[in-house]
Amino acid sequence: MIAEQFKKLLGVVCPDVVYDVSDIHNPTDIHNKGSGSRGKRLKSTKEMIEKEISKAKRKCATCQQIVHHDKRNCLLKNAEK
Ligand SMILES: [Zn+2]
Repeated sequence: MIAEQFKKLLGVVCPDVVYDVSDIHNPTDIHNKGSGSRGKRLKSTKEMIEKEISKAKRKCATCQQIVHHDKRNCLLKNAEK
C-alpha cells in the first residue's frame, strides 16, 4: 500500500526482475588509504599501459614469440603447473 503511494509520488517503476544476490559483486578498482606510500603517485591504467609498451620486447623461449615476458614468467609455463 505504502509502496504504491511512493511509486505514484516519485513516478518510479519497480523492476519486475528480481536479481539474485549472488550476481552482486564487490566493486573493483578500490584503493584504500595508505596504498600510495613513500610519496608515490598512483599511476592511471593508461600510464601503466604506456610504460609496458615502452619496455623492450624479448623472445620468449617457451612460447617462441617476441613479447613482453621471458621463459621465467611465461603464461604457457604457468598454465602447465
Ligand atoms: Zn612466453
